[in-house]
Amino acid sequence: MAYLTLRGINKIYPNGFHAVHDFNLEIEKGEFIVFVGSSGCGKSTTLRMIAGLENISKGEFYIDGEKANDKGPRERGVAMVFQSYALYPHMTVYENLAFGLTLQGVDDDVIEQRVNSTAKILGLTDYLERLPRELSGGQRQRVAVGRAIIRKVDIFLMDEPLSNLDAKQRVTMRSEITQIHRETGATTIYVTHDQTEAMTMADRIVVMKDGYVQQVGTPYDLYFNPVNMFVAGFIGEPPMNFVESKVKKGNLVLSDNQIELRAVADQDVLDKYEGGEIVFGFRPECVRPVEGGVARSAYIIKCFVNLVELLGDSTNVYVNFDGYNTILKLDPHQAPSVGSSFEFAIPYESVYLFDKTTEKRVKTKALQQK
Ligand code: ADP
Repeated sequence: MAYLTLRGINKIYPNGFHAVHDFNLEIEKGEFIVFVGSSGCGKSTTLRMIAGLENISKGEFYIDGEKANDKGPRERGVAMVFQSYALYPHMTVYENLAFGLTLQGVDDDVIEQRVNSTAKILGLTDYLERLPRELSGGQRQRVAVGRAIIRKVDIFLMDEPLSNLDAKQRVTMRSEITQIHRETGATTIYVTHDQTEAMTMADRIVVMKDGYVQQVGTPYDLYFNPVNMFVAGFIGEPPMNFVESKVKKGNLVLSDNQIELRAVADQDVLDKYEGGEIVFGFRPECVRPVEGGVARSAYIIKCFVNLVELLGDSTNVYVNFDGYNTILKLDPHQAPSVGSSFEFAIPYESVYLFDKTTEKRVKTKALQQK
């Protein structure tokens, strides 16, 4: 059995709301797992059930092979970091870090040693005598993380710990948390709505929607092999483009452009969707401008440029073709200007197909080769 096992976990709140449905996951010791999904999809509820702060309505939860459903938060050996730092405002950084250990009756000299080493890991050594209000948001969040790691527990639970920080601080703290994880080796479960945090920090990501797990996988898996439209659209920024179209004689029914599905799909797929509808997906960053020729194994699409956003390292180009609004992410030096016509290429291996009704991924030739 894995280090942490969640088997058929459900949460039904006392008001009858079914917030988490049949959550199954096995977590190995030392893994960094991220739960990601839009607000309200059940991430915090699941994390709180793992922490022992919410009871599990149905299902089994094991820690290191031992059933833990009925264990209290302290018995589980977990430390939790919340979005609100939850620091004691009238205590110094030193006292905030030391507080949990003092309660446990740990000797003063051991506390001093642990506070000093924790402060060193987090770059807080010079701030130990300050009060929380005398710190920046990033420093406060570091103290909150410090309070968790000082306890030397085996399991860290973090609920949106970076959402109160500005964009720059978030990027810095992101790598600091990853580094702390590497140093402590603690099994970590991290909740966020931010797919970039999930992609950059996780060993494995759990994508959730409306209380259901959509997919569990490495960042690579989720990006390259999403199982459905939700995961395909959630992972990646800007999101994947979806073109919903009728299929006639194996082609998408478009007015100006020609997309022959045969190039990417086998006969059984062509047969199944003939006369029906299919969703054609491609990522903004996978397209190339058509100038001076492109590889033959690509669809060439003519479009009209509505808007151009220079980001510095790349340019988002909002285009319309055959009535579909899509986004292309291009090299700034290759980006077209607003109001112009433009041709771009979608390599066959970058095409995703989805069933319009079930929203599940439909196999393509590229997928079969993986
Ligand atoms: P997330 O962390 O993904 O934003 P939550 O786990 O906090 O989502 O919430 C999942 C769903 O459960 C939401 O629809 C939320 O409104 C609902 N919920 C959360 N707490 C309670 C509660 N105590 N009673 C009833 N419903 C709740």
